[in-house]
Amino acid sequence: MTLLYHYSNPVFKGKPWAIEEGRKKKKKHKPARIKISNQQFRDLVKRTQDYLVPFWDRFNSAETDEARLSLLRAYSVPPWKRVSQHVRRLCRKDPHHQVSALFDSLGLVKCATCDDPAENKHHIVPCCFGGPTISVNLILICEKCHESIHPWMAQ
Ligand SMILES: [Zn+2]
Ligand SMILES: [Zn+2]
Repeated sequence: MTLLYHYSNPVFKGKPWAIEEGRKKKKKHKPARIKISNQQFRDLVKRTQDYLVPFWDRFNSAETDEARLSLLRAYSVPPWKRVSQHVRRLCRKDPHHQVSALFDSLGLVKCATCDDPAENKHHIVPCCFGGPTISVNLILICEKCHESIHPWMAQ
């Protein structure tokens, strides 16, 4: 590569420094982070809330552990696209610790699908699909049930 820009190269004769300068000026372009407005985030919360209305009806009337688990598995892949890294981070947030406070106030609870002690908070619509940290989108389940919803957890 160096030879190509050397002053003795006939192709660049008389203009080697101009080329070197031009090379220096090139800057790498960083893509702008795609942000969303507060209204767009509220729409996203609403989308999950609406989507989960039939979920809770079906979940509460399901009779077996397996039926409850398969509902959780089905609803963890909603019929829309994944969201950006930025939106995912917004979804993970629990700004006023309302949700943590609510779950902490429950004390020791049983897994929502089986009867073991619940140790895990699970986002029914995952953050990567824009599922926010709101009580309607969270469920307390045990480690074993959680692993059976997310196969990657057991690896
Ligand atoms: Zn369980
Ligand atoms: Zn989970």
